[in-house]
Amino acid sequence: METTTSLVTTSPARSLAGLTRADLGLALASLDVPEREIRMRTAQLWHWIYHRGIRDFDAMANIAKPLRQKLAAHFTLARPQVVSAQLSADGTRKWLMRMPPVDARDKGAEIECVYIPEHDRGTLCVSSQVGCTLTCSFCHTGTQRLVRNLTTQDIVAQVLVARDLLGDFPGAVPPTDGLVPGEGNRAVSNIVFMGMGEPLYNFDAVRDAVDVMSDGDGLSLSRRRITVSTSGVVPEIPRLGAESGPMLAISLHATSNELRNRLVPLNKRYPIADLLQACRDYPGASNARRITFEYVMLKGINDSPAEARELVRLLKHIPAKINLIPFNPWPGAPYECSDWGTIERFSDIVFNAGYASPVRTPRGRDILAACGQLKSETEKLRARARLAIDEG
Ligand code: SAH
Ligand code: SF4
Repeated sequence: METTTSLVTTSPARSLAGLTRADLGLALASLDVPEREIRMRTAQLWHWIYHRGIRDFDAMANIAKPLRQKLAAHFTLARPQVVSAQLSADGTRKWLMRMPPVDARDKGAEIECVYIPEHDRGTLCVSSQVGCTLTCSFCHTGTQRLVRNLTTQDIVAQVLVARDLLGDFPGAVPPTDGLVPGEGNRAVSNIVFMGMGEPLYNFDAVRDAVDVMSDGDGLSLSRRRITVSTSGVVPEIPRLGAESGPMLAISLHATSNELRNRLVPLNKRYPIADLLQACRDYPGASNARRITFEYVMLKGINDSPAEARELVRLLKHIPAKINLIPFNPWPGAPYECSDWGTIERFSDIVFNAGYASPVRTPRGRDILAACGQLKSETEKLRARARLAIDEG
């Protein structure tokens, strides 16, 4: 029961927004709510926090006033602070959020979270770690060291903040600038773990966050609308299937081990054949629930027609979707994006093998919100600002 202690002693004003049912139960227990009431009270809090998006205990009409007051005296419903918000010409939004510190040494980790609206859906791209321990050579996040794993609360809070800002809770008003999905569609209808970090190296927090997001009494996002993207942490893939069951995306990017070792160094530990076997075994994979294979288009590196044919051959007996991602450049990157003609030729081969519209349109490029560009730019701007202050 260590968590109870930490809830009570170290964080008297800890936020309850983003916690699991179990942690909400512990929070209630720490206020001496009788054991027999914990389940019911947890369900009530859950509804107000996740279904209604309430930010004030006083609005929780079916909770008696003394308990509401007690809750307010010990806890908050605060969200991470939004340090900056950017809106792209194409409607993509990027938020820099500062997470509450997890211990005395933590200065408050900052992460980025991206929202991509389309006419019939809105996808939120969440981060699972601050930085990344892996070093994929085409990824800007990979050049930053890992600062810390995000907690379940940090991950879920990204969804709450997005829904707050997009007017996506019952009775709220959507923003008037930028695009939001059309009438009858939720602003945040899909979640992808494609922000910063390797989700399967933060397994427990990601699994618990998916549980909170998909709970039918709360945020109510179906697991079929939640996608976890991994660079290929093979031993965790069966666990993800067994303990969580979201949609799976694999950052493949190469068809030979020799090249993949260079692009995704984790491949030296878990080579392509093992990775694809884990995909074949992924529970629930079917033609209706395909695994997405991401393939970043790097000029002269992995973009030949022969590689397109090899890609199709490799994925032959796997229920797969292929997502070709134009490389998003960053300063000092050792790669360039493939030419449009080359991408089209590659995509035609994949298309003719039966995979529909495989090229991912880059979104939010003007605000550096595309895959692999997160956070670094902010850090760089900060460093530049600090330098200017020092020099000035
Ligand atoms: N760590 C996980 C999820 C985060 S990255 C993973 O690697 O899958 C999300 C996707 O963006 C991955 O497919 C990743 O390979 C890709 N990506 C990283 N940097 C990129 C860049 N500069 N341009 C295009 N895609 C990139
Ligand atoms: Fe980490 Fe994914 Fe970037 Fe690789 S592509 S460095 S795993 S965030």
